[in-house]
Amino acid sequence: MQLPAAATLVAGATLAARLGTPLGLGTADALACASCRACDATGDRCPGEIPRISEMVAAAHTGDLARFVLHRGLLCVRCENCSAACPANLDLTRLFGAMQARARAADALDPGLRRAALAQGLLGPEFSP
Ligand code: SF4
Ligand code: SF4
Repeated sequence: MQLPAAATLVAGATLAARLGTPLGLGTADALACASCRACDATGDRCPGEIPRISEMVAAAHTGDLARFVLHRGLLCVRCENCSAACPANLDLTRLFGAMQARARAADALDPGLRRAALAQGLLGPEFSP
């Protein structure tokens, strides 16, 4: 009888850990993404020239700043072209804005990631040394 209770506690803790980061970032609604990749099909109209917009959503889902930056997330200008294509009605510009704000916070980016992203032109001028 105690095993199911323990399993419930573990499942609850796992769920809390999974939700903790996106909730803290304000990106928890990314959990509603159905991974349909319809947003990727708008890449030809993306001013940031971002080919895998769904990867930025997945990064917002877990609060993964490295994944977000390496998929050109800091080059997004939040034009809303991709949001219009989302069948889940996710506000992608808001999600991406929250991730950008987190990335711009002091010391948010690992120094190695920061150097690599700077070298690849993935960071805006505000990140220059
Ligand atoms: S909101 Fe960002 S990712 Fe979406 S199309 Fe515009 S620039 Fe590209
Ligand atoms: S269009 Fe919407 S539901 Fe589909 S992958 Fe992109 S964010 Fe997710």
